Amino acid sequence: MKDDHYRSLLGKRKTALTAVQDSGQAAAGTVELDQSRVGRLSRMDAMQSQAMHLEADRRRKLELRRIDEALQRIDDGDFGYCEECGEAIAAARLEFDPSARFCIGCASKLENDPGRA
Ligand SMILES: [Zn+2]
Repeated sequence: MKDDHYRSLLGKRKTALTAVQDSGQAAAGTVELDQSRVGRLSRMDAMQSQAMHLEADRRRKLELRRIDEALQRIDDGDFGYCEECGEAIAAARLEFDPSARFCIGCASKLENDPGRA
């Protein structure tokens, strides 16, 4: 396993996600300020965009957690193996998503099971 390579891929991804998170928080603050002096319709717009922001934030936190888990697996020496069948995950798949926990076969089987995939 090219541990250092994946460690740096995961690290870069984490840095990018954290940067987005910081700028996102600044945007959410702006929405709150505007709410005090805009009409009902605009307030609904603001609430809608805030809901979208929260959803994006939730996804980012989920991905950050997956990245941390992947980094932990590198430390444990378990990285790159499917959690379902134990087979090595294809290098191309890890290149695309280093936080992948399943091989492509298991991932497609688990796709409709959001609790695990
Ligand atoms: Zn598998």
